[in-house]
Amino acid sequence: MTATRVLVLNSGSSSVKYQLLDMRDSSRLAVGLVERIGEATSRLVHTPPEGGGGRRERSGPIADHDAALKAVADELAHDGLGLDSPELAAIGHRVVHGGLRFSAPTVVTDEVLAEIERLVPVAPLHNPANITGIRTAQALRPDLPQVAVFDTAFHTTMPEAAARYAIDVDTADAHRIRRYGFHGTSHAYVSRATAALLGKDPSEVNVIVLHLGNGASASAVAGGRCVETSMGLTPLEGLVMGTRSGDIDPAVTFHLERVAGMSTDEIDALLNKKSGLVGLCGDNDMREIHRRMEEGDERARLAFDIYVHRLKKYIGAYYAILGRVDAVAFTAGVGENAVPVREAALADMEGLGLAVDTGLNAVRSGEARLISPEGARVAVAVVPTDEELEIARQTFELVM
Ligand code: ADP
Repeated sequence: MTATRVLVLNSGSSSVKYQLLDMRDSSRLAVGLVERIGEATSRLVHTPPEGGGGRRERSGPIADHDAALKAVADELAHDGLGLDSPELAAIGHRVVHGGLRFSAPTVVTDEVLAEIERLVPVAPLHNPANITGIRTAQALRPDLPQVAVFDTAFHTTMPEAAARYAIDVDTADAHRIRRYGFHGTSHAYVSRATAALLGKDPSEVNVIVLHLGNGASASAVAGGRCVETSMGLTPLEGLVMGTRSGDIDPAVTFHLERVAGMSTDEIDALLNKKSGLVGLCGDNDMREIHRRMEEGDERARLAFDIYVHRLKKYIGAYYAILGRVDAVAFTAGVGENAVPVREAALADMEGLGLAVDTGLNAVRSGEARLISPEGARVAVAVVPTDEELEIARQTFELVM
């Protein structure tokens, strides 16, 4: 029997998201989440394969990632999908920061783990949790290939002109300060899916991808290769996000320190957790912002306008970088669902061949689709992202 299953693990500091996929037809055999690991109120939610009964939930303390993964293994075993199954080909791990070294999915060795560890200073929130996830999975199935799929990998093709900050080169190099970009798995998946929607090979099209979730980033993809992206050394740069400011004059930070007397940690928390939409209007959920705007709420309107203004600025900039744009693709929670955001972001851009058909834009669907008017010079697409499938695919390709 050939092994065709891949378990995808996305380990955060206090959560583990997982999916078990069968790569013969990319079907999901199980999907789940363990959250609040290390607290008394931990919770596991597991959705078994079709016909396997309904969603199962387990509450009660789950002390650490080791216990979390064992609980996941128990749930999978309950469905006859245990981790000891010979049908399991590999475990694919989302790893946030791969630095300059990892431009492709990589089978984890001690040396690879050590390098992911060396990148902790540039991804202090994410890489430690990813490492814990990998170590835990290794302990459970030491014989199985563990594959790291990096959020930064797709962006390693960016030219130096896009990847470097204009700061002292020696200081930058000594501290590995450069623009890495994130959400790469999503940008890779969506740019390819957009080409497929146009009936073209990725090498034939230039696409601007707008990944608008709680975190948000844009990328310019030329012939399948990323040439620009909006996140930088960390996911703080670029677009206005749910709780992050995105682009800001760095002098704001000195000002907050010198004039407002804030500490580095306080400024970090302000810009990463208390800014963006939540900082502007108190809500980071675009649904709630739409609702408040309909009631005439001025702060919600201003937050929306600032969000859209930044988005438009990036679309224009990436248009200029690419020279020729075949498609603009919206993805993730906001991009896939927020009709007014898509409409406003592309308003008054007919001169660039960009327009949204109001009727098509209003259609609700989980499928990849076009929302530009018939015959438009640039296609506008809504493409649901699927980072887990992309991680599974890259993992499977590597171990087969
Ligand atoms: P994450 O970055 O956490 O993966 P998602 O891609 O799931 O985020 O996006 C979550 C965000 O999507 C929510 O915070 C909300 O702003 C937005 N969103 C989800 N559904 C809708 C909807 N129907 N209309 C507008 N915005 C939505």
